[in-house]
Amino acid sequence: MEKILEKALKYHKLSKEEIIELLKNNSINDKIFNAADNTRKKYVGDEIHLRALIEFSNICKRNCFYCGVRSANKNIERYRLSPNDIITLAQNAIERGYKTIVLQSAEDEYYTAEVLAKIIKEIKKNDVAVTLSIGERSFDEYKVMKDAGADRFLLRIETTDKELYKKLHPNMDFDNRVQCLKNLKKLGYETGTGCLVGLPNQTIESLADDILFFKELDADMVGLGPLIPHKDTPLKDFPANGFELSLKVMAITRLLMPDINIPATTAMETIHPNGRIIALQSGANVLMPNFTDELHRNQYEIYPGKKSIDYTKLEEGFKKIGRTISKSKGFREKTT
Ligand code: SAH
Repeated sequence: MEKILEKALKYHKLSKEEIIELLKNNSINDKIFNAADNTRKKYVGDEIHLRALIEFSNICKRNCFYCGVRSANKNIERYRLSPNDIITLAQNAIERGYKTIVLQSAEDEYYTAEVLAKIIKEIKKNDVAVTLSIGERSFDEYKVMKDAGADRFLLRIETTDKELYKKLHPNMDFDNRVQCLKNLKKLGYETGTGCLVGLPNQTIESLADDILFFKELDADMVGLGPLIPHKDTPLKDFPANGFELSLKVMAITRLLMPDINIPATTAMETIHPNGRIIALQSGANVLMPNFTDELHRNQYEIYPGKKSIDYTKLEEGFKKIGRTISKSKGFREKTT
């Protein structure tokens, strides 16, 4: 175990078997988290990049088994924010000094690439980066949004276990999702992916494959977190016990991809009272405070209990762990 960790620290490369060994054995977890923290410090420093998250629609054409906004869920109020409302929320974040606006939504075709392009162009009149997280679209649509000025795109692969992917995503195609990620890279987006940890029948082997997938894709960002079962989904009775394992997958990802951006995800904070800070001390360097207005934030219930961040107190909390808030847009600076 110690040898594997040393190798990871030195070469940032491990075989699938070695990753499995680290994931299976819990005897040196603290050392793994520590090593990831040191690697984070060495490669991306002590600055934390804040990204303002705006959840602009929960109207979804998909039916993912874990997600609370799946189309089959009749127990939620559906909403769409107007372009003007989205721009106003972005403006709030920009006034607070945020350098990245993340536009996230369910898969809602009402927002065509052209509609989104207009919103992006408006936001890009400010000196900020724009990240999209809106699901699968065609190459041409991704291109329209890129040409409008979008800088980054988040699209988690969710799991690289094809069988499991198929079960959890009715009428979706794993290969198409991979193709989307390749298209995004080709178009020059900073591309983020990631996975869910703690899915039913998910194996340690497949989590090792997930990590190798991130590396193979050369993802610029990796966001991952534990499954938090939602009562109105088929996974409602499944236990929410993925915290430690998701932290480990995240830490190993940092060890193997030292210069990428890794968020301390909201799911980690939701499942563990101090999850965000623990994640920031185990490899993460990014945080995504929610700027959606309160009503719609609650209606964007992909999982229950979604924790918000009191951004007025962020700086104090960071200071305590020796970290500062970045003033830059926080693009990946490739070192390899
Ligand atoms: N529609 C967009 C955005 C999805 S929401 C897209 O397809 O990319 C962002 C992420 O939330 C998803 O990628 C998924 O990994 C995560 N998520 C959804 N339901 C969840 C749940 N019940 N528990 C934890 N994470 C969940």
